[in-house]
Amino acid sequence: MKFIKTNKRNIIQPCGLDDFNYQIDPYLGCEHGCHYCYTQNSFDWSDEIQTYENLKEKLTAELASLKPQKIYLGMNTDPYQPVEEEFRRTRKVLEVLHEHDFSVSILTKSNLVMRDVDILKDIPGASVGVSIAFQDDLEKKLFEANTVPNSDRISALKDLKREGIKTYALICPVMPYITDVHVLINQVRPYVDSIWIYPLKIDSVEDENWKSTKPILEQHFPDILEKFQEVVFSIDHVYWDELRRHLKDVNNDVVIRISSENH
Ligand code: SF4
Repeated sequence: MKFIKTNKRNIIQPCGLDDFNYQIDPYLGCEHGCHYCYTQNSFDWSDEIQTYENLKEKLTAELASLKPQKIYLGMNTDPYQPVEEEFRRTRKVLEVLHEHDFSVSILTKSNLVMRDVDILKDIPGASVGVSIAFQDDLEKKLFEANTVPNSDRISALKDLKREGIKTYALICPVMPYITDVHVLINQVRPYVDSIWIYPLKIDSVEDENWKSTKPILEQHFPDILEKFQEVVFSIDHVYWDELRRHLKDVNNDVVIRISSENH
């Protein structure tokens, strides 16, 4: 994997999520390489990951034209992918945001976020979400081999909450007939303020994430391949309706939302 620096685009980008105007991806590309990742359709990052040149100066200049607000980190790539341990670009982003009175909401699959708990505690309103899609690490390894084990992610949520940081879980993507949403809700609910649930939605058999996911299903889950395919290509499928209905019946002490968006 090559890591290169770029100055070709602004660090701060518009964010399509409710409650956020802007987002930052400290890295363009993601070493986690999840087979289902929809961003494979927009970027080719099979052999390189980009990061920004003169990050501190460039971000400071871009922030100067904005009012302090909460910025989202983790929209298209994981801010705590393994390279962050050495490059510390995400930490630098946090330092600059904090220096200019901006807040942050982070989404990651890694417990490396705990390294930055000192600065997160100092940022008013900071929140951290951890995403998780599999109750079983053997299945996790098939679809997202380069991510940390689920137990490490849940421990991170627990530790963040203990440190007083607002936390949420993203059960994402729900892989039909593989992800047990109820098991995952029960695993994360003691440590989070809210839980978001995102189905796996794929638009076309030509999409890169389908081409990458299908061979795993063929080899390891041949019995569900056909019905899996029917469900992920139709967000109106009865499978999703039933999931929504079951979730309504669950007596929850955290806010649970199911979104029809794909993450
Ligand atoms: S799903 Fe997230 S963690 Fe996985 S490759 Fe895509 S951006 Fe990285």
